[in-house]
Amino acid sequence: MERDLTENFRLVREGVQSVCNNFGDDYWLARDTDGVFPHEFHGAMAEAGWLGITMPEEYGGSGLGVGEAAVMMNTVAACGAMTAASSVHINMFGPHPILVFGTEEQKQKHIPPLVRGEEKVSFGVTEPNVGLDTTNITTFAEKVDGGYIVNGRKIWNSTAQQATRILLLARTQKREENKDPTKGITIFYTEFDRKKIEVQLIHKMGRKAVDSNMIFFDNLFIPDEDLIGEEGMGFRYILHAMNPERILVGAEGVGIGQDALRRASKYALEREVFGRPIGMNQGIQHPLAENWMELEAAWLMCVKAAELFDAEQPCGAEANASKFLGAKAGYNAAVQAVMTHGGMGYAKEYHVERLMREVMITRIAPVSEQLISSFIAERVLGLPKSY
Ligand SMILES: Cc1cc2nc3c(=O)[nH]c(=O)nc-3n(C[C@H](O)[C@H](O)[C@H](O)COP(=O)(O)OP(=O)(O)OC[C@H]3O[C@@H](n4cnc5c(N)ncnc54)[C@H](O)[C@@H]3O)c2cc1C
Repeated sequence: MERDLTENFRLVREGVQSVCNNFGDDYWLARDTDGVFPHEFHGAMAEAGWLGITMPEEYGGSGLGVGEAAVMMNTVAACGAMTAASSVHINMFGPHPILVFGTEEQKQKHIPPLVRGEEKVSFGVTEPNVGLDTTNITTFAEKVDGGYIVNGRKIWNSTAQQATRILLLARTQKREENKDPTKGITIFYTEFDRKKIEVQLIHKMGRKAVDSNMIFFDNLFIPDEDLIGEEGMGFRYILHAMNPERILVGAEGVGIGQDALRRASKYALEREVFGRPIGMNQGIQHPLAENWMELEAAWLMCVKAAELFDAEQPCGAEANASKFLGAKAGYNAAVQAVMTHGGMGYAKEYHVERLMREVMITRIAPVSEQLISSFIAERVLGLPKSY
């Protein structure tokens, strides 16, 4: 996006862009091929201080808002799609439960190493038999002397091959033992102990370099000091981080779409068929113009949601709408970019097929379009809960 609404946004975009400029198409295509985590990019972002953008200054961060983080992730996604975005994304919202509900000691211990890029964290919510219905998770943390013993399994854990820590949601009370299904779920931030956690890679459509996994806990011991907040309140804590995450995923979808649209417009101008640029045909240019309008509108929703969040106003509807609109606008632009390139859209050297594969994640995770629509129908339109 050429026009940023505030001076802060402009400065963030320029700063992040100057890091991104060192990582071109060849770098991201190589990671898409070899599947090696983009350590150099992650390290460069840490070195430039961007990993702590939303963390308070006393823990090494910059103390900026979700608005600035959205600009950052929009810029990052326009550079290296979801491979770039997911390599740093969890730093933006992952430590949120520690920050809001953790003790001072936990904040001092855990946040600075994340900001410096020394620690990497995996996020453990989804389970093989329990997708969006989070209160049905069965991974169990049993109370023992000095801590908890965890058994169970999770799926889709990003960066579990790299992680030194895990932010884990587990039951400490069986669902049937409490009338309120959201109670009895607890959040831990603990060492990723590979002797007790088996990690199996999932081969997937895109974002090959940021691994996704199944993980199995076999009597993992978590000390009491790694419990975040109050036992049994983890579901509520995790909700706290959901709105910023949705805004950022929306901003990432928009970023990928903007990159795809830039490539499509360039190709439409350069490629000549029947003696004139293909972009002279309305059948080529009108869908691209529509992509631009969708991306602009989605970005404005992201900014609105971020402003509400940063002003501590309710923003559930806007945050969900950001994620829905950003992902869809990004996806539409990526598909159109492939179509605009004709046969070359299918060739890796033009990069748009990679963008199309990667942007798909933003439509699926961390919450699906159906569940967002149900949320808007129920909470905004006052319709009956449908599930
Ligand atoms: C690349 C990738 C990375 C991920 N990273 C992580 C991670 O780091 N940590 C983590 O914990 N999880 C992660 N996830 C998991 C992700 O959050 C889930 O895949 C997502 O929440 C959807 O859950 P599910 O796949 O189990 O779908 P399901 O819950 O099985 O749903 C399947 C489909 O049915 C639809 N559906 C279900 N119920 C209803 C209903 N009542 N009405 C209408 N439609 C319905 C859903 O919308 C969806 O389209 C990741 C996923 C991917 C693909």
